[in-house]
Amino acid sequence: MEVDEEPKGIVYQCVRCGAYVTYEEIELRGGGIKCTRCNYRVLKKVRPPIVKHLKAE
Ligand SMILES: [Zn+2]
Repeated sequence: MEVDEEPKGIVYQCVRCGAYVTYEEIELRGGGIKCTRCNYRVLKKVRPPIVKHLKAE
C-alpha cells in the first residue's frame, strides 16, 4: 500500500531555473524554502515525478 499524500513526497520546482527540490532537501538545509541550485526563493509545489525502478509497461 502506498500513501499518496505523504509530506516527504512533496517536490518543489524552482520557477527560475526549473530545478526540482524535494521537501527533504529543503528541511535538511533549513532556512526555509529555497532552490538548492540557485537559491531562488520562489518555488512552486509540484507532484513528485513517479520514479520507479521497475518498468511499468
Ligand atoms: Zn533555482
